Amino acid sequence: MSARILIVDSVATNRIVLKVKLLAAQYEVVPCASLQEAQQKVVDDRPDLILIDIADQQDEAFVWFSALKSSPETAAIPIVVLGSFPASTFRLAALESGADDILNKPVHDVMLQARIRSLLRSRDAAAELKMREDTHRALGFAEQAETFVPAGKIAIVTPSLTGNRKRLSAIEAELGHRCEFYTMDKVLSGELLTNVPDVFVIDGVGVEQNRFGNDVYRLVSELRTRTETRHAAQLVILPDETEGTAAMVLDIGANDLVAGQVTVRELVLRIHTLLARKQQQDRLRDTVRDGLKAAVTDPLTGLYNRRYAVPHLTRMAEISRETGRNFAMMVLDIDHFKSINDTYGHAAGDHVLTMVAQRLAENLRAIDLLARIGGEEFLVAMPDTSPSQARQAAERLRELIGQTAFDIPDRQITLPVTMSIGVALGGPDSMDNGEVERVFDRADAALYQAKSSGRNMVNISLSAA
Ligand code: GH3
Ligand code: MG
Ligand code: MG
Repeated sequence: MSARILIVDSVATNRIVLKVKLLAAQYEVVPCASLQEAQQKVVDDRPDLILIDIADQQDEAFVWFSALKSSPETAAIPIVVLGSFPASTFRLAALESGADDILNKPVHDVMLQARIRSLLRSRDAAAELKMREDTHRALGFAEQAETFVPAGKIAIVTPSLTGNRKRLSAIEAELGHRCEFYTMDKVLSGELLTNVPDVFVIDGVGVEQNRFGNDVYRLVSELRTRTETRHAAQLVILPDETEGTAAMVLDIGANDLVAGQVTVRELVLRIHTLLARKQQQDRLRDTVRDGLKAAVTDPLTGLYNRRYAVPHLTRMAEISRETGRNFAMMVLDIDHFKSINDTYGHAAGDHVLTMVAQRLAENLRAIDLLARIGGEEFLVAMPDTSPSQARQAAERLRELIGQTAFDIPDRQITLPVTMSIGVALGGPDSMDNGEVERVFDRADAALYQAKSSGRNMVNISLSAA
């Protein structure tokens, strides 16, 4: 689906010219003649981006921008202001009220299109992270508490460390965040930056015209693709008269661009905006990652849960078919666990579960899967394992638990614990879609046998693997 762009301009011919250009670029266009109309259209049409010439309605427009940016439903809509603004105070006021960019008329077409693409791209990335976070919350993973926002790390990259030193120091003084200075060559050489920055400010002003492609383009695209820097924001300072170049810089990955004669205050404001956005995205990314982890792990023992185990077993069966080797499945259940809870309390029971999980985990191969699949029930899946190896492994685990009692530190007691284990083998020959469940069922039935034969024992399913 193409993006919907709201055009706000009181001059009909301006609206038409812009509309034709945007339609040609496959955008959907909603033209408005006034601020009032635009306010209504934002509610009705939910645009993806706003292009606005605010003419003589500056103050009203700025109030509107602030309102859009402070409402969760509209905060992510990028706002691009078009017009002719000689005064830097106007630019600052527009940016401070929430505009994402200000482009002077007549607007360079290629530049406008690149700017729209870049703004829509970062908006989409933010929207996707937001959606994932919402999904995790819907699945019941608690919203993360507002975490501490660390100070930002800013890297300023210049052709040489002596060139624009005075201006760079002024930027650093005004930023209030730690700045590190690098030469382009040093960053390009691929040397790992000690402290990966949140924002790269790439100063292209001193770069010679014929080196621009080699230095600035390469730098922007490399930083965007390298694993350690791909989430960092990038702001490029360009020499004047380089609109065509500017468009390219945006398309290959820069988040923001300013002309060489930008004021320090505007530059600092833009860096702060990029930094805040980048840190918010980092927090969302962490929430998503933690949410994914929470979805597949058991909070008490830290082991994988059943949700993780099921697709893992299916994959293990597929690999067995490919390699022609057997795999083993064990279901392990603590004996008379209920009486531990009943006698010493639930907390002691929890402690035993945690210690049992740890002891099992420490005594398996890296390729074996250990999961907690029920209250006091565990699953071990072992690829590339023969029946005799499976029996030995199960016996070893049974002894490991039964031989050494568990200390319950708070209670000054030591509890003997035993486990019963059912084992079944799966093999490459009889593999079909239901095989994994059948192997599991045989292991479970074997466990049941071990329980009824006296507990603290291993029982292997006799059906052919
Ligand atoms: P068996 O030898 O036949 O396996 O007897 P059992 O007592 O181990 O088995 P039963 O299924 O009767 O009881 C399991 C107990 O495990 C009941 C339940 O309260 C307890 N349990 C389940 N999950 C947890 C948990 O997370 N923490 C604690 N402390 N207890 C749990
Ligand atoms: Mg039990
Ligand atoms: Mg049980």
